[in-house]
Amino acid sequence: MVDVTDIVSTDLLIVGAGPGGSTAAIYAARQGLSTLLIDAAEFPRDKTCGDGLTPRAIHQLRKLGLADDILRNYTSHGLKLHGFGGSVTAPWADSAFGPEGSAMPRTELDNYLVQHAASQPEVTLWQGAEAGEIQFANGQIEQVHVRVGEQERVVKPRVVIVADGVRSTFGKRLGREWHRGEVYGIAARSYCPTPLHDEPWIHSHLELRDSSGAIQPGYGWIFPLANGRVNLGCGALSTDERPARINTKKLLRTYADSMRDEWKLGEPTEVASALLPMGGAVSGVAGPNWMLIGDAAACVNPLNGEGIDYGMETAELAVELAATSKDFSLLWPHVLRTQYGDTFQLARTLARALTYPQFLPMTGPLGLNTPLLMRSAARLMGNLVTEEDNDIVARLWRTAGRAVAGRRGDAPLWS
Ligand SMILES: Cc1cc2nc3c(=O)[nH]c(=O)nc-3n(C[C@H](O)[C@H](O)[C@H](O)COP(=O)(O)OP(=O)(O)OC[C@H]3O[C@@H](n4cnc5c(N)ncnc54)[C@H](O)[C@@H]3O)c2cc1C
Repeated sequence: MVDVTDIVSTDLLIVGAGPGGSTAAIYAARQGLSTLLIDAAEFPRDKTCGDGLTPRAIHQLRKLGLADDILRNYTSHGLKLHGFGGSVTAPWADSAFGPEGSAMPRTELDNYLVQHAASQPEVTLWQGAEAGEIQFANGQIEQVHVRVGEQERVVKPRVVIVADGVRSTFGKRLGREWHRGEVYGIAARSYCPTPLHDEPWIHSHLELRDSSGAIQPGYGWIFPLANGRVNLGCGALSTDERPARINTKKLLRTYADSMRDEWKLGEPTEVASALLPMGGAVSGVAGPNWMLIGDAAACVNPLNGEGIDYGMETAELAVELAATSKDFSLLWPHVLRTQYGDTFQLARTLARALTYPQFLPMTGPLGLNTPLLMRSAARLMGNLVTEEDNDIVARLWRTAGRAVAGRRGDAPLWS
């Protein structure tokens, strides 16, 4: 029998304390908002991820004053892309985000962020606390029931930020819907011991073959962690129409075997796989007093599966609205579309092309042997084009984004 003990009132309830939720709590504290940050898990907890931090993510961490510790442990200079007989080294562009990347196991990164959030006087953290039933009044969230162990507690928030990740079980209660007709990712990661664990470049392999030697519509990655191990994984793009028929865990082992000699790899451990909604392909991301951020809002780059940076960016944007605005139903989708709409629409279109099994084998050999093209691709894959950048690649990217926006019959972005 569940015991409802007390009712807690707060300016802001944040559901989920991954990079999105913890970052939101830190920004909320800066705004002086009383904040209750809850997570169903107890930290440190694992999260299936490549653990890669591009300069865009480092830029976000720097704004929180948290980049230096992470960079001190490991700094990456850029991306090396391999496949189809070619190899291209693409240093991180010196964009507005700065030229440094990193990588850190999510058990550590997320714990570091959540502990920093919890150290703010305005923030209360409940771990092992799962948000469930919701009571509404006049269309607004009035109360949220939170199960903490055997107890059920009731929270009365003014605003709710939903940062509950890819499955977004709490978001679903609020009408969040994932459109799987749009491109989504399927991916697996592992940890492999290697003496090359502090190699200062992250690596991606675009020519991924299964155990029979057939090319698969996916890519592999090796992200050094400077802790005796690398994060090694592989991913593929999929749609309901053209599902990637790939066993990612099996493909990961074949990929690890193919890299074993070059990287002096031990056996992959902690192999785990997950799905990734991408490119804003969800609807129902806001209501009068709630907003979905990060993976819950499918804020993941369809070209590289990266979402830590977007989780942190959308956290900052959402808190700004929470502190200044009243009804988010139309405002929040509008902010997301203004911020990311053109880029995500274009990335979704390109990613869709990659779901055709013939596309990579046809274009890969040309691309990998044209260094300028690949350095530009690496910059796009690293999320490194900003509105402030005015060079030719940035201008082409933005123009193409605007050109495809609204042309196709895609599921709407964040309706
Ligand atoms: C295989 C793979 C590789 C990836 N590689 C990279 C990479 O290299 N770099 C990168 O930037 N991104 C990568 N991503 C994406 C990245 O992992 C996500 O974009 C990122 O974790 C999003 O953060 P978030 O805060 O939105 O959600 P999460 O990190 O998923 O956090 C959600 C939190 O909500 C909690 N929660 C859920 N439901 C409830 C509830 N009802 N009540 C309370 N708490 C709840 C969960 O316990 C969890 O802690 C990868 C993803 C996958 C699957």
